[in-house]
Amino acid sequence: MEVCKWVDEDIIELQAMGNLEDGFIREHFDYCKSCEARVLESRKWIEKLKRGLRDLQEAKEIRRDANDDDSNRQDES
Ligand SMILES: [Zn+2]
Repeated sequence: MEVCKWVDEDIIELQAMGNLEDGFIREHFDYCKSCEARVLESRKWIEKLKRGLRDLQEAKEIRRDANDDDSNRQDES
């Protein structure tokens, strides 16, 4: 696939997050298949990242609970 040179990764990410306010560049995504594909890729990546952060947060909480259990067990023995 031909890579579009003048739209850089920051612009792609802004567009993927829906934060791009430059109408001229936004128009570009309507006809540039290369950039459109990059936005879709970036969006997938952002979703994965968000899910990863959520999992990490949950894992931390689970570990904190597990640590509490361990200390209780040590107190009992
Ligand atoms: Zn492009």
